[in-house]
Amino acid sequence: MMRCRKCGQRAVINMRHHRLALCEEHYLEWFIAQTQRAIEKYRMFRREHRILVAVSGGKDSLSLWDVLLQLGYEADGLYIGLGIDGGIGYSDVSLEKVRAFHERHPERTLHIVDMKETYGESIPDLARRTRRGRGKPCAVCGLVKRHIMNRVALEGGYFALATGHNLDDEAAVLFQNVLHWQTGYLARQAPVLEEGGGLARKVKPFCRFYEREVAAYALMRGIDYIYDECPYAVGAKTIYYKELLNQLELKSPGSKHQFYLQFLEARRRGLITFAGGQENVDLHPCERCGQPTTAPGLCAFCRLWEGQADGAAVQLL
Ligand code: SF4
Ligand SMILES: [Zn+2]
Ligand SMILES: [Zn+2]
Repeated sequence: MMRCRKCGQRAVINMRHHRLALCEEHYLEWFIAQTQRAIEKYRMFRREHRILVAVSGGKDSLSLWDVLLQLGYEADGLYIGLGIDGGIGYSDVSLEKVRAFHERHPERTLHIVDMKETYGESIPDLARRTRRGRGKPCAVCGLVKRHIMNRVALEGGYFALATGHNLDDEAAVLFQNVLHWQTGYLARQAPVLEEGGGLARKVKPFCRFYEREVAAYALMRGIDYIYDECPYAVGAKTIYYKELLNQLELKSPGSKHQFYLQFLEARRRGLITFAGGQENVDLHPCERCGQPTTAPGLCAFCRLWEGQADGAAVQLL
C-alpha cells in the first residue's frame, strides 16, 4: 500500500513527476496551495482583484472556479451557450452542470451569454452560413468565444479573465507550435497575457497541473461536470498531439512537465524572443463594436455578421 507523505494514511494519488503520494485530505490541500503558488509566481492577480472565470461545464473550468472561491477570491463565472447538440445535447448538458455548480455559490455572479438569444445564431448555424466554418465550426467558435470573453471581462470591470487550461492542453499547443515553428503563437503562449489595447488580461492558473490531477481534484470535491468533449473536438489536431505526448509520458514520466516548464523558463530568461508578440501587434478599435482588431474597419467578429449576404466576406484574425 502506498502511503501519504504527510500523514502516512493510505494514499489515493501518486504523482511520479513530483515523487509525491498523498491521501485525499492532503491532496486537496496540496492542489489548492499549488494553485495559489502559480498565481503568485506568475503574478496573475491579487486578493483585491475581481476575476472572471470562463466556465464550459467541464472539469477544468469548474475546478478552477471552485479553487479560486476556496482561496477566497472574488471570482465570477462566464458561460457561453454555443448551441451545440451533436446528438448528446452538449450545450444543454454543460449549462446544467454550470448552473448546478453556481447554485452552491449564489453569492457569486454567473454571466450567461447565449449565442442564439444574443446574436440570433448558434455556432453551427453561423459556421454553416460563413465560408470559414464549412466542415468544422471550430475557427468561428474560437473567434466568437474570444470576442465574448473579452467583452464581458471589460464591461464587467474584471481585472483578469481566467481559463482552466491545464498542462496537457498547454504542452499539446506548445508541441503543435514548435512543430510548425509558429513563432508568433509561441511568443504569446504564456500563463499570463498582459492587458492592453482593449484586450483583457488573461491568466491560466492550472497550467502546471496534469489533466489527471485536475480530474482527481474534481472527483474528490464532488464537482459534477460534463464528461463528453464537444462533438466537434473529435479528430482535432491537439487531441492527436495529446496522445503522442501521453505515449512519451508513459515511457518517461514528467516529460510533459519538463517540456512546458522549461519553455517558460527559457522565455523568462530571455532566451526565446520573437518579433510579432502581443506588444508588437498594431491594434485599433473596431468601427462597430469597439473591440481591438488588426484589420482595417470592422473586426473579424463583426465581419461574421456582415458577410450574411454572400457568406464570403468572412476573414478571421
Ligand atoms: S471543439 Fe467545440 S467548443 Fe471547441 S472550438 Fe470546436 S466547436 Fe467550439
Ligand atoms: Zn495525508
Ligand atoms: Zn467589431
